[in-house]
Amino acid sequence: MTSLNSATSFEQLSLSPPILQALREIGYEAPSPIQAESIPHLLEGRDLLGQAQTGTGKTAAFAIPILSRIDLSKRVPQALVLAPTRELAIQVAEAFQTYARHLEGFHILPVYGGQGMGSQLRQLARGVHVIVGTPGRVMDHLRRGTLSLDHLTTLVLDEADEMLRMGFIEDVEWILEQTPPTRQIALFSATMPTVIRKIADRHLNHAAEVKIKAKTATVEAISQQYWLVSGVQKLEALTRILDVEDFDAMIIFVRTKTETVELAEKLEARGYEAAALNGDMSQVLREKVIDRLKKNALDIVVATDVAARGLDVERITHVVNYDIPYDSEAYIHRIGRTGRAGRKGKAILFVSPRERRMLRAIEQTTRQPIPQMRLPTLQDIADRRIEQFKAQLVQTLDDEDVGFYRELVDKLISEEIGDPADIAAALAYLMHRERPLEAPEEPELPAFEPAREHRREKKSPEGGMLRYTIDVGREHSVQPKDIVGAIANETGLSSRLIGQIKLFDTYSTVELPADLPDDFFKRLKKTWVRNQRLNLQLVEDGGRQQPSKKPAKSGERKHAKPKASEQDKPAAKRRPKKAQP
Ligand code: AMP
Repeated sequence: MTSLNSATSFEQLSLSPPILQALREIGYEAPSPIQAESIPHLLEGRDLLGQAQTGTGKTAAFAIPILSRIDLSKRVPQALVLAPTRELAIQVAEAFQTYARHLEGFHILPVYGGQGMGSQLRQLARGVHVIVGTPGRVMDHLRRGTLSLDHLTTLVLDEADEMLRMGFIEDVEWILEQTPPTRQIALFSATMPTVIRKIADRHLNHAAEVKIKAKTATVEAISQQYWLVSGVQKLEALTRILDVEDFDAMIIFVRTKTETVELAEKLEARGYEAAALNGDMSQVLREKVIDRLKKNALDIVVATDVAARGLDVERITHVVNYDIPYDSEAYIHRIGRTGRAGRKGKAILFVSPRERRMLRAIEQTTRQPIPQMRLPTLQDIADRRIEQFKAQLVQTLDDEDVGFYRELVDKLISEEIGDPADIAAALAYLMHRERPLEAPEEPELPAFEPAREHRREKKSPEGGMLRYTIDVGREHSVQPKDIVGAIANETGLSSRLIGQIKLFDTYSTVELPADLPDDFFKRLKKTWVRNQRLNLQLVEDGGRQQPSKKPAKSGERKHAKPKASEQDKPAAKRRPKKAQP
């Protein structure tokens, strides 16, 4: 265990200016615990044994120091990251590229089985700075002499226990032996089985040990639930929860400063009184937000961990962990924002399939199982709105003087414009024209996912999206807009539904909704961009697979959600904008 004082800002870590700039732009507010503890050792060139799981920020914990020390003038592999799956290798390579956005001329190459050798060989020959690969394919290249590790300064073993589980450990050790004795090794593993420990003892040199420790704690006053991200996007899930939960005030936790602002804006656009709270805001501004929350002028605050530290507002009945926290301690701190002053609180945690381990770690720390929740269906929401409509009618009949309207309706009836019940129905219709009370058709929702082996999981980058590779990349001078244009034109898919596109040298990745009809893939088969056939392939563990042939479910996936009209505020939470105090 290290006894370093953890850095509370990236500026305190001696990172290179282009990396700091990238981190500022991405909006990371502070290093996560694994980053604060690992980065100083890695920058010093020390070996490191890190126990941390997915979701703790471990990728950046090794990528950032590697990039800070890379010598761009030497186009030889200086760092090698070994990862258990193709999927993880791609993800890690993407993370590197994100942090390296200001490193002009930086080249990283992901290598994994199932990918054509040709382009890998071409890129290796041209020279790259970092390689991320699965052990098998890296070994292939070493054997063929197409990859040399003579100038390697850092070797990272990512998810070492997974590599062990998948039977790669001998390959990993063989690769280790091909590296110069001077290189630094960083070994990350979620668990530390004896075999991994032994490898560490054998190959690591006076390694610093970093473990994200789990303290025990109890959180009795707070009822907890988690939703496994599947079927619908997180924003859609959140708005459904907002529609049915009876909350007074709510705090929503996200990971980045940028996201606090974006999500708060999206909620405002949907009629909620929401604001961001993050470390970029001045103290005065932050206090103003908290004050508005206390005084009922705000109902939802979207915050980062740092900004919400110590927040004490009795009104907060709900905490939503929109992004999972880095560790159990942060989780306990977050949910402790509710259940104040002896009141009851509710905490909801969004967990993506890859983050299940973090969920288990949280359960261990809090010594409480967290039950899985069923996402409210569109019918649940409609039922609730009908109940509210009824309550509103009853209250109006009880409390309001409706004499003028009674006369008006009597007149309409005497004019025989329609049956009294039909007139009432037409009025109810007019009141809800913007957002009808009828439940829209539900997109197929796997509300309760059976606990699948997390490695088998298809990657769903954002809820209902899947990631694909396409065989056109930077070296074909392609731009994201060419890809969006081609897909939208060929298939008729709205460009709005095309998710993130990332360009690599020989290929790119694109995120598409999970529920596309068969026909979509047929059309794309014939699509060419920049003289390259797209050859769309699902990013899935164990090599390239055919795109999934999901049951066709075309049309709009999200139900229309226009701005709330005055009559139509669920739980009195959607309300017209007030002047700020
Ligand atoms: P990992 O544990 O490497 O899989 O990272 C999990 C997620 O945390 C990724 O989506 C990262 O973009 C994000 N992340 C990593 N470090 C930070 C940070 N310091 N602040 C906010 N988000 C982060």
